Amino acid sequence: MDDKKKRQSMILYVIIAIAAIVALNSVVYPNMQRATVKDVSYDQMLDQVDEDQVEKLVFNTGSNQITYTLKDEANVTYRTTYFPNDNTLVDRLKQHNVNFSAKQEDQSSGLWLYFLLSYGLPIIIFVGIGWWLNRRMKKAMGEDGPSMSFGSGFGMGGGLGKSSAKEVKGEETGVTFKDVAGQDEAKESLEEIVSFLKKPEKYNEIGARCPRGALLVGPPGTGKTLMAKAVAGEAGVPFFQISGSEFVEMFVGRGAAKVRDLFKQANEKAPCIVFIDEIDAVGKKRDMSINSNDEREQTLNQLLSEMDGFDNHKGIVVLAATNRPETLDPALLRPGRFDRRIPVELPDLTGREAILKIHANDVKMEPGIDLGIVARSTPGASGADLANIINEAALRAVRNGRKRVTQEDLLESVDVVIAGEKKKSTVLSQHEKEVVAYHETGHAIVAATQKGAAPVTKITIVPRTSGALGFTMQVEEDEHFLTTRTEAKQKIATLCGGRAAEELIFGEMTTGASNDIEKATQVARAMVTQYGMSDKFGMVALGQQRSRYLGGGQELACSDGTAQEVDAEVERLVEEGHQTALKILKDHRFKLHEIAHYLQKKETITGDEFMKMFTRDDGFAPNLPRVDDAK
Ligand code: ADP
Ligand code: MG
Ligand code: ZN
Repeated sequence: MDDKKKRQSMILYVIIAIAAIVALNSVVYPNMQRATVKDVSYDQMLDQVDEDQVEKLVFNTGSNQITYTLKDEANVTYRTTYFPNDNTLVDRLKQHNVNFSAKQEDQSSGLWLYFLLSYGLPIIIFVGIGWWLNRRMKKAMGEDGPSMSFGSGFGMGGGLGKSSAKEVKGEETGVTFKDVAGQDEAKESLEEIVSFLKKPEKYNEIGARCPRGALLVGPPGTGKTLMAKAVAGEAGVPFFQISGSEFVEMFVGRGAAKVRDLFKQANEKAPCIVFIDEIDAVGKKRDMSINSNDEREQTLNQLLSEMDGFDNHKGIVVLAATNRPETLDPALLRPGRFDRRIPVELPDLTGREAILKIHANDVKMEPGIDLGIVARSTPGASGADLANIINEAALRAVRNGRKRVTQEDLLESVDVVIAGEKKKSTVLSQHEKEVVAYHETGHAIVAATQKGAAPVTKITIVPRTSGALGFTMQVEEDEHFLTTRTEAKQKIATLCGGRAAEELIFGEMTTGASNDIEKATQVARAMVTQYGMSDKFGMVALGQQRSRYLGGGQELACSDGTAQEVDAEVERLVEEGHQTALKILKDHRFKLHEIAHYLQKKETITGDEFMKMFTRDDGFAPNLPRVDDAK
């Protein structure tokens, strides 16, 4: 969770708490007024009895006190101390018809209630809300590791300024490099750290200095956290995990205190690993802007000084992970801090297959399952996505009452992870279904006719929970790392194929192509600003990637005039792709009709079925106009 959200919850919290106290005091306090107690002298009481004002009187034998109420002032309780040797009181009360009794109980319990309601209750509510918010925040963060701070220190007593010893725990992780598939380069870089942690003396003897810190950088879900744990597991040392966002505290000074405490603990348990997940939350560049976060800076400064200060001979290694290395403060990356940067990239084809295999070991599978096809269908998937695919497949098998996962379960769960669950509640009209069928067939045909495009493996018009009404899946036969300009152009054309088919057949556009348009524009923009692939600008980097690992957009680094030209160039590229798609579909319009009709009936067809239909020579010359072309 970022600072902003946290601060918002904090503000919300304070508002609720204040509202609660105001409400309590405006409702409860006036009521309590009725139970107001007035202390009076004994003599005054006697006067009131004599004047027949007293309604009811109680002797409190425990406290030796008398409390009474008056006939015309029922909401005030009078109190006085019993005069020891007054034997006449009872007679006097009888004489004036006062209702009197004796009680053991202390009548001041009303006062207790008052204190409880006006002070105790708000405090309970305060703490309760704090606890609740804390839980919500934790849930929002998906935190499973050591607990966050805010509830623990929040109660009535102490805690606020104290460091948070409980929050970080060293643990043996039980994860080893065997649990991490692929990522061989990253593992290799970490090997040295493992061997240092195993035998720090060996390094000390020679006088070698081991890295104090290493920074794991890469997109989310690629196994950074997993690998940090594996290092601890391999070396058999304790593992202190804390997330950067946990440092950014609601109370100034807490974050820094936590850092100090964390390193103190690490120092006691050395050799060990301190793992700071999402370090960008604390490690953002310190800047001069007005809304700079003092708390964060203090925490960062503390972290830097701890890293400089600790005794490296003992064997403390600080690992950190981030998917926004570009936002980190340069001070963090200086020698002696996180000077080693270990890229953890998205897995390639072999990596994906290996990851699938590892996770497939945990579930029961039918013999002869081909994980390769799954790996090929999931370019760009992270390790976490792949683990999720296996799990979804297992869930599906259970849902269908099977004991083992089948190939079909796997392929279906690829769709689920890529496009979302099938959505039964979306009922398309006949016409809409027809439009979607033509749209998807359009993509498929444009892809199939262009050499550089990945083969189609599946076309479906079953609506998905992600909002997609259908999709066409293409799978590269093998991985390639360079994209040619021709391929990029073909990709744009393929993306335009859906809309082009709609236009061609129905002479109308629908909103169904919005995602395609967005993607096509992205590709075109990258061609112009990043890859120097446009004729107009040539090899000039006009843009700056905002966030490499999070797929952040581009920031144009050029003059306004040029920016306009860039837009025009992007538009031109997309339009070119659109025209290509239109032309291809015009050339193959019989196939378009045939396959779209078939798809409408079947709802899902495989790539093989599609290719068979597409390449079958059914006696018509593809370019010969037919009757329904008049449409
Ligand atoms: P990150 O910290 O990079 O966001 P995680 O380490 O939290 O990613 O990975 C999430 C999950 O994805 C892991 O618990 C693991 O199940 C799976 N995973 C990711 N990468 C791999 C990998 N290389 N090998 C095996 N499992 C992986
Ligand atoms: Mg992580
Ligand atoms: Zn589309």
